[in-house]
Amino acid sequence: MDTTTFTKKTIGGVVQIEPALTPPPIQGSGTTFMVKPKLSSAKARTKKRDIPEGLWTKCPSCGTMIFDKELDENLKVCPKCQHHFAIGSRERIHSLVETCTFEEMDAEMSSLDVLKFAGYKGKLERDRKNTMLKDAVVTGVCKVGTHRVALGVMDFGFMGGSMGSVVGEKLTRLIERGTDGGLPVVIISTSGGARMQEGVFSLMQMAKTSAALAYHAQQRLPYISVLTNNSYGGVMASFAALGDLILAEPAAMIGFAGPRVIKDTTHAELPPGFQTAEFLLDHGLIDATVPRKEMKEQLVRYLDYFAAGQKRA
Ligand SMILES: [Zn+2]
Repeated sequence: MDTTTFTKKTIGGVVQIEPALTPPPIQGSGTTFMVKPKLSSAKARTKKRDIPEGLWTKCPSCGTMIFDKELDENLKVCPKCQHHFAIGSRERIHSLVETCTFEEMDAEMSSLDVLKFAGYKGKLERDRKNTMLKDAVVTGVCKVGTHRVALGVMDFGFMGGSMGSVVGEKLTRLIERGTDGGLPVVIISTSGGARMQEGVFSLMQMAKTSAALAYHAQQRLPYISVLTNNSYGGVMASFAALGDLILAEPAAMIGFAGPRVIKDTTHAELPPGFQTAEFLLDHGLIDATVPRKEMKEQLVRYLDYFAAGQKRA
């Protein structure tokens, strides 16, 4: 149904025809309303048409509403401003490795709450349910391009990617597997730091993972560390900062202590962009920023370089 007039072509020329629905003639003079329209009812109608939850995500950087399916297909990167959302470890592994080549290691390893820390067991159970993971890292041997690689991927969704005894042990075993098998190691970090609920056992993981990497380096095998938003604390103070090559996703926040703590301790104004990947690239801590969609391609390129270097040596 339409309310506009149509024209119809005939042999004799153009003929006006009546629209299917004729608007009623305006009665009376002017456009006065008999009853004042209620603005509140108009508001209520628009409210009813609100976007259903769980279908769209608002980009925290540019405010664009992104269809969740589109966001997933774009590896959780805003198509408008390239803001990198957090991505689960399984999705990330899927985006990096050759199909069906990932052989997971120590999939069943889980924390025992040895310190009987108040509330820790409940948090572990909650995050196991939410993420379908046993702890904050997934490790395994896989193929990236043509290279066999020992790959570890952390997950911020599991207790903020914190490093307890399971994360440290799984990564250490991964690195040792790399050393024994002559494989390059790639670790993708996202972490708030050491897991306070495991106290000194968490802190020990810093020394353990670092020592394992030292043995790996003695065999002249490459280690690529990829830092993603956020990479902080004990993780940055150990294996994440020890890469032969350190890459980061754009705009990732990276540091040891957070900016507020540093500001309060030093009583100094922090420079703009402090602790972002771009700031750290300018200041020499990291070697390159790589957008998520180019990460696999770039990793293959770097692994090619390393492999060529090893052949020459
Ligand atoms: Zn955006």
